[in-house]
Amino acid sequence: MKFTTRAIHVGQDADPATGATIVPIYQTSTYTQSEIGKHKGFDYSRTINPTRVALEQQLASLEGARYGSAFASGMAATSAVLGLLSAGDHVVVGDDLYGGTYRLFSRVLERYGVTFTYVDARDLAAMRAAVTPATKLFWIETPSNPLMKIVDIAGVAELLRDGQLLAVDNTFATPYFQQPLALGAHIVVHSTTKYIGGHSDVVGGVVITDDPAVHEQIRFLQNAAGAVPSPHDAWLTMRGAKTLALRMREHAHNAQLVAEFLAERDDVDAVYYPGLPSHPQHALAQRQMSGFGGMLSFVPAGSVERTFEFAKRLKYFSLAESLGGVESLICHPARMTHGSIPMADREKRGISERLLRLSVGIEEASDLLEDLQSALDATAVHRDNARPLPV
Ligand SMILES: *Cc1c(COP(=O)(O)O)cnc(C)c1O
Repeated sequence: MKFTTRAIHVGQDADPATGATIVPIYQTSTYTQSEIGKHKGFDYSRTINPTRVALEQQLASLEGARYGSAFASGMAATSAVLGLLSAGDHVVVGDDLYGGTYRLFSRVLERYGVTFTYVDARDLAAMRAAVTPATKLFWIETPSNPLMKIVDIAGVAELLRDGQLLAVDNTFATPYFQQPLALGAHIVVHSTTKYIGGHSDVVGGVVITDDPAVHEQIRFLQNAAGAVPSPHDAWLTMRGAKTLALRMREHAHNAQLVAEFLAERDDVDAVYYPGLPSHPQHALAQRQMSGFGGMLSFVPAGSVERTFEFAKRLKYFSLAESLGGVESLICHPARMTHGSIPMADREKRGISERLLRLSVGIEEASDLLEDLQSALDATAVHRDNARPLPV
């Protein structure tokens, strides 16, 4: 079965009780047992719920894996993976990462005696040099957030020694464009809030693995800590995921046009999008991904004030955190998604006050380009931009 078909059919059998074609929202906390010790596989909804099971099967199949565990948020999914570790364990982390992940690692898990070393994960030698005898886990995001750095997943997988695990946050690429497990990762994490849900109406997360021992521990943690999604949230996420392939094709198509448009402007200092041949890791992205996704970042020329003014003037790009919905969003990483990273660290990592991140939606591309053009022109520092729009 191909990807698009799996998205629509795996886990989506007709309801055994009624024949309902669409998996019902099993809005129940408990299940009536026929006699003591005898039930239909369902006992309590923190532990197991049929709507959630359907979602878990669907999402696991999209990553080419056997096992998925759904969580109430991407951060809950990330916490569960880190719950595999114990005090004294060490993690090597790609340094360009989601701000909330950094916050969880540095402000919560460090207190529990887990240690973290942050490395530019594009540099495999630096990754290797960060390994200690206590290293149990590598954690990477690719493309990274917000600078769209590409990490060589297969290259990192080759660094692993006995018992070490590689976890990839695949939220930006989605399984439609990137399959980390096939490249040697053990664990994939998603914030399903983003592209998988796809409509900015539900928060969720998932941990996917093909390793039965890892899965058993994640399942244990899912039940033990209990950060499970509601049946309704599981259902919304599942519905969104059915159209992931269609949406991703449009997101990538529009993002490519937006990136090319911005790269042509002489009043834009930098554009970060792996689909541009000028991206330093364009070749790696082409090798590792089957498309470049819908996220990009850029730096308008001029002052910080211009960045702020530009972001305010857009009509179709809402100024909002989050990403991956059908509607276009713009965000200021330094003040919004990455505000939890101390200023000095942020600047060191290239997340300047002038940087903007776009989640390019699936509106008509010409409308998006016009919107960007008029906001750039209205705030222009140079006015030599008389070129026609490319569509
Ligand atoms: C949003 C996001 C998360 C956190 O997910 P939540 O669903 O908001 O908890 C983790 N990683 C990445 C890359 C994200 O974009």
